[in-house]
Amino acid sequence: NDRYRKSREQFKRGLRTLPGGVSSPGRAFSDVVTPPIFVSSARGSRFTDEDGNSYVDFVLGLGPVILGHGHPEVVRAISDQASKGTVYGMPTTIEYDLADEIIAASEVIDLVRFMCSGTEAVMTAFRLARAATGRERIVKFRGGYHGHSDVAIAQATKPHMLSIDGENIRSGLATSEKQDVIISEYNDSDAIKTLVDAHGDEIAAIIVEPVATNMGLVPGTGEFLRTLRSLTSDRGIVLIFDEVVSGFRFRYGPVADQIGILPDLITFGKIVGGGLPIGALGGKAEIMELLVRRGSVFQGGTFAGSPLAMAAGLAQLRVLRDTDAYAHLDHLGKILCHSLINEFRERNLPFGAQRYGSLVSPILQVAKESLRDYSDVGGQDAKLFGRVHKELMDRGFAIPPSIEEPLFLSVVHEEHQVKGLASAYADAA
Ligand code: PMP
Repeated sequence: NDRYRKSREQFKRGLRTLPGGVSSPGRAFSDVVTPPIFVSSARGSRFTDEDGNSYVDFVLGLGPVILGHGHPEVVRAISDQASKGTVYGMPTTIEYDLADEIIAASEVIDLVRFMCSGTEAVMTAFRLARAATGRERIVKFRGGYHGHSDVAIAQATKPHMLSIDGENIRSGLATSEKQDVIISEYNDSDAIKTLVDAHGDEIAAIIVEPVATNMGLVPGTGEFLRTLRSLTSDRGIVLIFDEVVSGFRFRYGPVADQIGILPDLITFGKIVGGGLPIGALGGKAEIMELLVRRGSVFQGGTFAGSPLAMAAGLAQLRVLRDTDAYAHLDHLGKILCHSLINEFRERNLPFGAQRYGSLVSPILQVAKESLRDYSDVGGQDAKLFGRVHKELMDRGFAIPPSIEEPLFLSVVHEEHQVKGLASAYADAA
């Protein structure tokens, strides 16, 4: 009675046709003991796999599916648009409608450019920053993930991006890209001050998630983010907030405006595409205008501004805008975080949890109250996590296959599902 028989069989088949059997490496579940699970369909807060097992979904497409799978408004927008055509190679006014929503949501944004992935949004942000400053170096923070462009993966700090011998990814990257990227420590103001003092005149951009969502869930401190803003302003460095995950996740707009620390450029993805492939880059006109037809920076794409993604994104944003979605998401996040802490405590387990809005990270490290930087995240018990992951999947709770990714919640998750996860999590641990 192998619960995952069909998934195992399918994975063997896939290994013959896709490198590693998958289209994105994390999906091979190589960090955990569970085999990759093949989804056959999803609805609301749940999905079913090829073996017919049903799961409450806390992966949710790793971010985009904030309204739950198959939200009727989103489905209707996609099918209406599909019946009118999927790609034209010419502009549509839905691009303007979606841009209006994003621009209205942030003081920083005068202009938006749409593309097909968060990776592309970040890649273009780097290019604009280099063009605007005439400098080449990019600073990022240990444990961050900003997509898979050359610059974004040079000096990789995450285990799943390292080669088997534990070395940085080298293959396929130019030496110059590796030399251009500098790593600093998240939430460490002194480290970034020292770095900018030494190299400020060579740095085109500093990229940061104001709430880190790729090293567990780690909010940036106000002090750290304010330091970034003042250092970059003083030294003419472009400050990029990567809000591919955090944008429209916690409120109707980016985290930037909520905390009152405004970067020069903001990248979006995930939620603003309503579950279809998207990336978006926003910023002040003086930088963004470098992208106009006779501007100095090129970016384009057959599917950029995809009518389907625009329609889906617009439908999703309108639901978020016109309902009490964020209050409800916050409520669910609170319940999940409190329940995890309580369930651990009841079992005398020295673990904890931390959250921001509807993203929650269990903390599987003895006596750690909170995660503050990547060394905290890396200090967790990855073996234990791997076994917790399997136990949860066996019990019908799907969570991301890495301790570095938070648990995701959607508007349609129910309290009993969230409490059920917390209790199963602590049981498994
Ligand atoms: N930035 C951040 C913060 C991300 O988490 C991700 C992907 N999870 C990206 C950029 C890249 O987005 P995409 O996968 O759409 O290319």
